[in-house]
Amino acid sequence: MLEPLFLVNINCINCENSFKSSRVRPSFKKSYAKDTDFYSHYKEINPDYYVVRVCPFCGFATTEHTENKLSKDQKTVFKEKIGSQWKMRDYSGERTWDDAMQTMKLALLCCQIKEEKPRIIAGLLHHISWLHRAKDDQANEMRFMKFALDAYIQVFETEQLDLNNARLMYLIGELHRRLGNYNDAVRWFSRVIQDKRIMDASMIKACREQWAATREDMIAAKLELPEEMKEKRA
Ligand SMILES: [Zn+2]
Repeated sequence: MLEPLFLVNINCINCENSFKSSRVRPSFKKSYAKDTDFYSHYKEINPDYYVVRVCPFCGFATTEHTENKLSKDQKTVFKEKIGSQWKMRDYSGERTWDDAMQTMKLALLCCQIKEEKPRIIAGLLHHISWLHRAKDDQANEMRFMKFALDAYIQVFETEQLDLNNARLMYLIGELHRRLGNYNDAVRWFSRVIQDKRIMDASMIKACREQWAATREDMIAAKLELPEEMKEKRA
């Protein structure tokens, strides 16, 4: 039988050694459900566990979206913060939830040292929040969701518009809703619904649905609905 994991060769951008990291075969990446913030549920193996590649020799962690450059100064900072205390540790092979969390947090630190694009950092923060969701740890899920939301807003404000903007705006709205910032959620959903330049039909539909979901949330929380929400529309 085909194993779900296979090894790929990675060259470390910090110490330049090569090492192996596990990936999940595409045929095993079958999710059975997706949450409204794009979190996918998997029955057996969770591909999110294998997103981060950690160099066993120096501890530098990357994802496939990391840029392949590290300046001399960044290498020095990495050595001070992580490298000098690193003990040889091999994360290839099967990973537990704890391994996944450790590798994700390492990648976050490395991306911060590397001054990666906000988009990459936002994605890692969101993944850390999802890992906590998988364990029903709501306090930590929400804590990292708030960090992810702030980072996504920074992406929206700083990165140029070749990105899928409707998807990003939807996500910002949805994280606001999940954090209970209902007025902000409605504002972001409405922007997508009302912006005539946005052509992304699936995101417009998602924003309408979550606009309605936010309205229900507000009614359930006995909050005063803003004027525009008093009539059920969207
Ligand atoms: Zn290395």
